[in-house]
Amino acid sequence: MSRNYLIAANWKMNGSNALVKSMCAELTPVLSQLSPEIAVLICPPATLLTAFTGVNALAIGGQDVSAEGAGAYTGQLSAALLLEAGATYAIVGHSERRQYQGETDELVAAKVAQAIAAGLTPVLCVGETLAERQQEKTQQVIAKQLMAVYASHPELLVKSVIAYEPIWAIGTGLSATPEQAQETHAFIRDTLAQLNQDAAEQVRILYGGSVNAENCSALFTQPDIDGALVGGASLKPDEFAKICLSI
Ligand code: PEP
Repeated sequence: MSRNYLIAANWKMNGSNALVKSMCAELTPVLSQLSPEIAVLICPPATLLTAFTGVNALAIGGQDVSAEGAGAYTGQLSAALLLEAGATYAIVGHSERRQYQGETDELVAAKVAQAIAAGLTPVLCVGETLAERQQEKTQQVIAKQLMAVYASHPELLVKSVIAYEPIWAIGTGLSATPEQAQETHAFIRDTLAQLNQDAAEQVRILYGGSVNAENCSALFTQPDIDGALVGGASLKPDEFAKICLSI
């Protein structure tokens, strides 16, 4: 089964109009070289979404999306607002939001459903802490995070992207090895296959956690790794371009 690739950037609370300009200048020639099976996505702070103009081959996305459609939810961004700003994707359930904003599996599930209903593709983040890995609970934790979203709505799977992001690898410089990542990606696909075999074969599963221009090629050779969600290295246009060209 051949799947398309996605290289996604999560700028978190970083970036500027100047970075948008230099990223677009760096990526424009890169995007024209990439085969059509490789998509590139940037998720900047929401205030920068509309600054990405004129690079049609580049997708942009939100870093979060509200579980609500509209109304009195100060500070939140609906899927419709993101779409109007040009977004086609939204990251959902990033570990930083689960940790700092107290997002539960139930809220994350509602966000995925809301994003898809409005026409956005959610990038659902799942992953274990270091303590959970050391206690050999990685699979249990990830199965729970996945099932909270898809068990009662398996039809959402085919419209989703999954990102496996071990929390111990995020921003630490300590990436999972290609073998460690592949093992968990295969587990994610097998788990999802219990809900819908075809959708599990089609769904893109990205790896995230200290991906850089040096370690990405080995990760991309693994059969169940369909791209990357890149944090720190996505703030350096030349390095992010190299990652995009490494598939
Ligand atoms: C992330 O936060 O999604 C991420 C993968 O960050 P980093 O690449 O910096 O580890």
